[in-house]
Amino acid sequence: SKKAGRNSVRFFDPSLESAMKQHATLEDDIRQALDQGQFVLHYQGQFNSRDKLTGAEVLVRWQHPVQGMMSPALFIPFAEETGLILPLGNWVLETACKLLASWEKIPRMNKLVLAVNVSALQFRQSDFIETVVNIIHKSGANPQRLKLELTESMLIENLDDIIHKMLSIKELGVGFSLDDFGTGFSSLSFLKRLPLDQLKIDQSFIKDVHSDPNGAAIAKTIVALGKSLGLNVIAEGVETVEQREFLSNAGCHAYQGYLFSRPVALTEFEELARSN
Ligand code: C2E
Ligand code: CA
Ligand code: CA
Ligand code: CA
Repeated sequence: SKKAGRNSVRFFDPSLESAMKQHATLEDDIRQALDQGQFVLHYQGQFNSRDKLTGAEVLVRWQHPVQGMMSPALFIPFAEETGLILPLGNWVLETACKLLASWEKIPRMNKLVLAVNVSALQFRQSDFIETVVNIIHKSGANPQRLKLELTESMLIENLDDIIHKMLSIKELGVGFSLDDFGTGFSSLSFLKRLPLDQLKIDQSFIKDVHSDPNGAAIAKTIVALGKSLGLNVIAEGVETVEQREFLSNAGCHAYQGYLFSRPVALTEFEELARSN
């Protein structure tokens, strides 16, 4: 009632109650979606300076029975909060590794590298190394064709532990890319210690290389920084020929973005790879 409502505890705030219900429902929905195979993977091509396809980033989507195709931005943060990212992340890695195994005997396809996003919670698990080793072995994937994308924010805690994890996995042949680079607060000395293979320049720095001189200077500096550390540098979110030209002049020779390809379903990606 209205009278009781004024001083009552917040549990009875109807908007909070409905928010909690929505959360409980979303959690159940994600579990069910995993059971019922409602998650799908899309593949966004990665290209070199000769416009050759070198692989793809694997991006998860939720084929929701009511809402239609749902963006990961809408459910990944929640899956991280609830821990559901662990089974979901394993499913993504397994599916990507099985795909790599299925390409292993196909001449053009067996050169492609798949980049899989790893969430902070996944990487922090004490059995992360074991999980990756098991998935690779069970799937029969060539580990040289797998790349894991980490973000700066997940690499701050126990640096020795992080390096140990990365080195153990690199021993298999798996590569590491530092995603969304430039949006975190990594120091140079920190970057130098990490056994990375690639820096991925965040798309926010690519967006304004032509409108904003500071943006251009930052993008150039990031490319130079990556190269000085001996890393491969890839730019994401490349949408225009002008951006690609700028990056190429700055020394960045690997690209991902709508200019080259949108994230597409598997059949479309395989077609792209065959015709590229
Ligand atoms: P991200 O790892 O930074 O992925 C790049 C995002 O930029 C993707 O959004 C991609 O579709 C989008 N993108 C690619 N090229 C362009 C472009 O030229 N212009 C613009 N404006 N956008 C572009 P998406 O697919 O919605 O994924 C969003 C985020 O969700 C990803 O950001 C990643 O953080 C997360 N995510 C996706 N799949 C997974 C997954 O399997 N596991 C985990 N942990 N996170 C995932
Ligand atoms: Ca990524
Ligand atoms: Ca990114
Ligand atoms: Ca991002």
